[in-house]
Amino acid sequence: MSELRQINVSKNGIPKLAILALSIVFAAGLFVVGFDQGHIFSLVYGEQAFTDLYLHELTHDMRHAAGFPCH
Ligand SMILES: [Zn+2]
Repeated sequence: MSELRQINVSKNGIPKLAILALSIVFAAGLFVVGFDQGHIFSLVYGEQAFTDLYLHELTHDMRHAAGFPCH
C-alpha cells in the first residue's frame, strides 16, 4: 500500500543571494558601458589598452544614447 504525501513549500520574497548576484552583474555592466576607458582590458594588455579602448569603442553609441559623458 502506498501512501501519498504532499509537501507544500512556499517561499516568499526574492532570495538575497539572487539580489547580490544581480547587483554585481548590474554594477559590472554599468561600469563597462558607462565608465570604462580601457581599465578592464588593461589587466591583460597593460598600458596599450588605454590607447586602444576596445570596450569603449564597442559601447560608444550606447554610452552616448544613455547620456554618459564620453569625450
Ligand atoms: Zn563618445
